[in-house]
Parts: sequence; structure tokens; C-alpha cells
Amino acid sequence: MSKKIYVAYTGGTIGMRPSDAGYAPGDNLMGLLEEKLPADVMASLPEFDLYEYPQLIDSSNIRPDNWKQISSDIASRYDDYDGFVVLHGTDTMAYSCSMTSFMLQNLQKPVIFSGSQIPLCEARTDGLENFVGALTMAADDRIKEVCLYFNGRLLRGNRSRKLNAYLFDAFDSPNYHWLGRADIHVELNEALLWKPTARENFQLACSSDTHVGILQLFPGITAQWMESALNQPMDAFILRTYGTGNGPDGDQALLDTFAKATANGKLIVNLTQCHRGTVHQGSYAAGSALARAGIVGGLDTTTEAMFCKLHHLYSLGMSTEEVKGMLSISLAGEVSI
Ligand code: ASP
Repeated sequence: MSKKIYVAYTGGTIGMRPSDAGYAPGDNLMGLLEEKLPADVMASLPEFDLYEYPQLIDSSNIRPDNWKQISSDIASRYDDYDGFVVLHGTDTMAYSCSMTSFMLQNLQKPVIFSGSQIPLCEARTDGLENFVGALTMAADDRIKEVCLYFNGRLLRGNRSRKLNAYLFDAFDSPNYHWLGRADIHVELNEALLWKPTARENFQLACSSDTHVGILQLFPGITAQWMESALNQPMDAFILRTYGTGNGPDGDQALLDTFAKATANGKLIVNLTQCHRGTVHQGSYAAGSALARAGIVGGLDTTTEAMFCKLHHLYSLGMSTEEVKGMLSISLAGEVSI
């Protein structure tokens, strides 16, 4: 039976046009696609309806309200379509995929994010292949999760990261295998696909307030610097540490600053600055010291996914203790346990 796909165009390079200030979001994406794809080729694609958001954005402008808009949009059309494509800027696509995976839990249909590095209006665009590939994946009912399709790779959305600003190979999922590839043949790694165990659970609450901050250790960081950051009115902080989750255990003032913040109810989650790997705070004394200061390890969750997971859980009204208990639970395949 032929599939019907809903395409949400939120902005991003794929539909951008040149302006005096550089590329800027452009409308009439359907017109561009019709220019590029002859009618008989278009007719060979899965049938789709394309909806262009009234306010198209460069994804560097993403805010929680945009996540609410994307997830509610999909939820409201869920029964009318077999799959969904979200065309989005690449800069923050990994965040939006992650957030959507938490808001639209236990999906039974594919939701595929994609975009491009060169706009469709340019001769060397990668947008056409990405669009057609994303549509193909969205028509595959073996996929029941939020994914990111780019340059032939199908990645779990909440495992993905933008790792290259110049190559067409812009995305990877450093701590999880690719879910599939589109070369001459389209192949899915079925054993790795997310298998929902319950019915759809759409939790569309997404607070507009910022709950989570991201901090990073650097050589010579001081307790005063950290204290002023931790005094920001956030519920939780991601602390990007070294290696397997290590920090300067020789700096007692810094450790005291962390301990004071966690004792005051702030959640501090330890993630590594390394491109690939997982946090084990007990591997080194320099990591154990952080654990003693009340910092919690975030395992191999990406910074993008952890940011969104925390934002999502606090948006649902959970307390810090409750959120802490969810860090080692995989909500949508974002963490290896
Ligand atoms: N700045 C653009 C965006 O994220 C980059 C892109 O789409 O590739 O919207």
C-alpha cells in the first residue's frame, strides 16, 4: 500500500537563499523541489504533503517553543500519515531530534529529521539526496523512532551529533552504531532499531523557561568562576569533564563549590568532553572526588540528548531526586545501560 508522508519545513540551509548578510531562511520550498525534480521523478517518491512553518528559522535560533511546535504538529497529524520528515537546520538538529524523541515517546511510526549543508538553490546542493533519502526512510514502517538522515546515514536522533561544519558527512552517532545506510541499496540494521514496548506516549509539555545550563572544565578553572555559573537560576547543569569523568581533585575550593550547589538542590550531571566514551566516576580518584561532591554520572548520553532529557523531565514537573533516578533509564534509546 502506498505511504503518505508529512513533511514539516522549519527552516535551515536546505531552503535558504543568499542575502547581503549571508544565507537566510527562504520560503516556497515546494517550488524549489519542483524546479529540481522532474514530475516523473517526483511521482516516483512516496506521496507527501509539505507544510512550511510561518516563521522559518536558522536553527541557531532554536528555543523550547520551537520544540513544542514541532512535536505538537506531528502529534496532531499522527493518525493521518504513515511517517514524518522534519526539515531543519543542521546546527541544532541533534538537539531537536533528541527533544522530539522524548516528547513523542513510544512512536509506532518513523520521524526523520534532515536538512543540508548547501541550499537547494545552489548547483552542488546535497539537499536533494537528503530530502529523497529522508522521505524513503519515513516510508519504512520498520522504523518506529526519531532518526536523523544525512548523507546516506540513518542515525538514532538522540545519539546524533553534528561533528563537521564543512563535509556532507556532517553527522555521526559516536556512542551508537548507525541504524542504516542508503547506498545503491537501502539497508537497515534492524537489530538496532528501537522497539517500543508500550503504546505511544506523547508528552507535549515543554517549558519555555531554561532549566539546564552547560558548563565545561578547562585547565586553571577557579572556584569563583564555577560559583558564579552555578548561581544562575537553573535546576540542573551538565558539567563537561575530562576523559571518563575526571576533574581537578587537587582543588578543594572547587570541589566545595560543587558540593554546596548539589547540597542546595542543584543537579550536576557529569558528561565527558571526549568525542566518544562513557563516564565512570569511579575509574580515577579525580572522578570519585566529583561523585563525593554530589555530581552524578551521565554515562554515554550525548550533551545534546542530556540537555533535552533534563529539560523534558523538569518540564514534566519532576523533582531533582526524581530526575536523578531517570538518568540511568533509557527513555528512547539515548543511553547504553
Ligand atoms: N545555520 C544553519 C542552520 O542550522 C546551518 C544548516 O542548516 O546547515 O539553520
